[in-house]
Amino acid sequence: MKPTIGISACLNGFEYRYNGTAVNDEIINKIKSLFNLVNVCPEVEIGLGIPRKPIRLHKVGDTFKVIQEDTKADITEKLEEFSHKFIRKFNDKIHGFILKAKSPSCGIGNCKYYVNDKPYGRTYGVFARIIKEFLPYLPITDEGRLKNKNLLWEFLTKVFMLFRFQNSKSTISELIEFHTRHKYIFMCISQKHLKIMGNLLAQHKKNNLKDIQLNYEETFKDMLKLSFKRSNIVNTLTHIFGHLSNRLTKIEKQNFLRIIRNYKNSKIELSSVIEIFKIYALRFDDQYLIAQHLLNPFPEI
Ligand code: SF4
Repeated sequence: MKPTIGISACLNGFEYRYNGTAVNDEIINKIKSLFNLVNVCPEVEIGLGIPRKPIRLHKVGDTFKVIQEDTKADITEKLEEFSHKFIRKFNDKIHGFILKAKSPSCGIGNCKYYVNDKPYGRTYGVFARIIKEFLPYLPITDEGRLKNKNLLWEFLTKVFMLFRFQNSKSTISELIEFHTRHKYIFMCISQKHLKIMGNLLAQHKKNNLKDIQLNYEETFKDMLKLSFKRSNIVNTLTHIFGHLSNRLTKIEKQNFLRIIRNYKNSKIELSSVIEIFKIYALRFDDQYLIAQHLLNPFPEI
């Protein structure tokens, strides 16, 4: 079983762009076998042809309108209607989106908009905005963000975490195991949410299980809206170092602290630090650490 990802069809080989081309992206080609892909092209779905004149986002008062430049037709309603239908259909069955940057339909915060026919700022495309409004916890990225190794790691980690959650949320014992194995990942995002979720599970013998499961899900999804913070990750790495430290030699300890410092100062990527921790977890046969998804957040790419 694999997570299900919605993808802008033009990023997956479909020649659906306004100029009849597709985007061939090295990173997307590399990671796409990790997922079940749901191809989506809102503009083709509402009947715009290929090729077509570009469409643009215009801000009129407080609202955004999507206008087809050649016909001057307002296609906002059609795009919104399609987007709502799509979201209703997939809802809990989807674990993230990879969308095309800068598109008036798919762009996530980087689509140009116009006021009085002049470029004015950047905002969400219609489809991306509606996903964000209705499923705000879903990991969403674009081909530009995926070129940043830390953002790629963050996206894949969240998608696989949400996928594992959807497969573990129906019984309390599975939920406890899910929580235990994700503790260090949660710590990298929000100590506050980790604590609330831990407290909820601790009450499972006293309280209504259904309520606990629902509250846990709400808190988990609320946490997913947050980004990984470097300071939280440094705290988590230091915590794991503490867990290992009485088995390390003096030189190994110095080396670990140097590696954490290098990550803190952006001199080394998180995935490289994690690989080093993984080697030590295996060397000490530390089953608690080996089981932590932080060490293996997603399959190798
Ligand atoms: S960016 Fe979105 S709307 Fe435009 S061609 Fe790609 S999938 Fe279709």
